[in-house]
This record gives sequence, structure tokens and C-alpha cells, in this order.
Amino acid sequence: MSDFSQQMASHDWHQVQASFSVISEEQVVTALQKSQQGKSLALDDFKALISPAAAPYLEHMANLSQRFTQQRFGHTTQLFVPLYLSNMCSNICTYCGFSADNKIRRTTLTMAQIEQEALAIKAMGLDHILLVTGESERKVGMSYFEQALGVLAKHFNHISMEVQPLDTEDYVRLAELGVESILVYQETYHREKYAKYHLKGNKSDFDYRLETPDRVGKAGINKLGIGCLLGLEDWRTDAFFVASQLQYLEQKYWQMRYSLSFPRLRPCEGGAPVNSPMSERELVQLICAYRLFNHEVELSLSTRESAVFRDNMLKLGITTMSAGSKTQPGGYANEDKQLEQFSIDDNRSVEQVAAMITDKGYQVVWKDWQTGLNQHLHWC
Ligand code: SF4
Repeated sequence: MSDFSQQMASHDWHQVQASFSVISEEQVVTALQKSQQGKSLALDDFKALISPAAAPYLEHMANLSQRFTQQRFGHTTQLFVPLYLSNMCSNICTYCGFSADNKIRRTTLTMAQIEQEALAIKAMGLDHILLVTGESERKVGMSYFEQALGVLAKHFNHISMEVQPLDTEDYVRLAELGVESILVYQETYHREKYAKYHLKGNKSDFDYRLETPDRVGKAGINKLGIGCLLGLEDWRTDAFFVASQLQYLEQKYWQMRYSLSFPRLRPCEGGAPVNSPMSERELVQLICAYRLFNHEVELSLSTRESAVFRDNMLKLGITTMSAGSKTQPGGYANEDKQLEQFSIDDNRSVEQVAAMITDKGYQVVWKDWQTGLNQHLHWC
């Protein structure tokens, strides 16, 4: 059992969930005053900021979030694009279009197809790619990743991966092959409900997934992204556990950089159960609360959200955005929408998103930090 699993065991889900309704406005004001004075916020302050009692203070939170984000990140926004390598999956997850029980056509990109996709993505001007797959050890395991990275490392300066949880030695190998960032979302921290969403396959092992960030930290990966799938269970309670895991990880693996994402459930093949809907206003509140809680963490917003929403969030805490995304294997050189994992909302091209960022007075960062540069600076 990892330290975080033990820490989590001391928080009963139902008690945490119930505690939000008794948070007072005074607690919210105290958290905001601490934030304004530049003091670090505790987890209890974060809870106050995402509680219903904080809703009337959203404008104040947004102003602070904008200020802290600009102080730390300047007027910049990183852009990246996901490349789905395969929709093969041996797991059954009730909310996902790639679930093994969905009767969809399955495909895995060949190395020649990956090369074609890489060229198409480069032609869009992007230099940061996020590789995504379903979880199929047999078809898309480490040997496939090694081959794929051999192709992609020639084209991209920053490679992130969002694939099945792996062992520490696998992450060490991925770092050697040029992977800079690993993204792994717990989906929900509600242990009992997690079992109801993950019916079959490796992903049904709650603890192995929960301990993945520790294995990533031990492997010396440069950046880790965590989060939960908003809409499965009570979003405030899940967000609290994300914040506590982030705090735990930053203390233990202080060399790593961190990012948070806020995926809200989207329509997909097989139908996604949105048990706990979250409004856009609540999503703004959550993003601003994370920024007030942590000034260093990168906050990423995907094309799951609408163009209008993303445009408005640009100045309020977000540091990273996907653009021009496709959620089927390939999709940039060869489009086959029937194979999508879920439908996106912001369908603008990379060029259009980049123009929006520039119009707002921000600079597009096409490439995240690069290990080679990092090593060079150490050497100097
Ligand atoms: S969420 Fe991931 S593991 Fe689950 S069915 Fe979808 S692709 Fe497979």
C-alpha cells in the first residue's frame, strides 16, 4: 500500500462529500484572504473554495486566478494535439466508446501510418504530441510503444503519453525513449463506485491505478498529469482527492512537474452515464480554486469543452490546451469518424485556436520544456 493509499483511507468518501454542505461563507472569505495575502492554502481552504458557499465569490476567485497564473506563466498558452494509436481495449469501462463490449471496428496504427500521421500533425505546426491508446497489452504493449516512439521521436520535441498504467521499469524505459510526460487519471476516487464503472480487465484494479503516480515519480519522468473524470461521481469530492494526491506527490517527488486536467464526460458509443452533472460555472470555480491552491501546477483544458468556454478560460488559469483534436486512431492523415472514442465540442483548426490566443494578447508555446535543453543547462 502506498503512502497515499493510507492517507486516502483516513478520509471517508461520504464524510468528505457531506462536509461541503456545511462549509460557511466565513470559511470561504478566510481562504480568499489567505490567498490574497500570498499565503499557502491548506486542503481545507481548497474545500471551502469549491463548496457551494464559494459560488457568490466566483468573480473574486477568477481575478486572483488570473493574477497568479500570469505571475507564474506570463501571457503564454501551450498547445498540443492527441494522437490515438489504437482503439483496441480488453477492459470494460461503462463510460467509454472503446470499451471491449462495444461492437466497433478495431484498429491499431502501423508504423507507416504513424509516420503519415506525424507528418500531417507537423504540417499543422504542432511540436507537442500526446499519445493515447486503449488498454490492450497484447497489441499495444511496451514493444509497440518502443517502435512507435522510434518513429515519433524524430518528429516531435515533446511527447506525452496517456496509456495503460505500467510498472516502474517501463516508465524508466519510456523516459529513455524520449517521453517527457505521463498522464493517468483515477477517473473516480470512490472505491466502491469505481468497481461499478470498471467491470472487466486490468483497469478494475483500483489500487494499481491509484499507485501509478508513485511509479511514475520513482521512474524519474519529467512531468505527471492527474485528474478525474468529471460527471461520474460527486465532482467536489473527487476534486478534493485529486488535490490531496497532488499535494502528496509534490512533497514526495518534488523534482517532477505536474498538470491537472478537467475532462467532463462526453457523448460516446454505448452511452455515458452522467451521474453527477457539472455546470460550466462550477467548472470555472474548480479551475480557479486549483490555481489559488497551487500556483505552479499546469492546468489543461481539452476540446471536450466548447470554443466559447475555452476562449473565456484562457486568461483565468488555464496554461495548456489541445487543438485540432481527433479522438479516433489516426485521424489527421486519414479520417474515420466512426472510430471516435467520444465526440469533441471545439472543432476549430489549430490555426484558428492559435489566432484566438494571439488575439487575446497571449503567445502560443508550440513546444514544452525539452530534456536536451535541461541537460545542457545542467552541464553549463
Ligand atoms: S477508458 Fe480506457 S481502459 Fe476503459 S474502455 Fe476506454 S480505452 Fe479501455
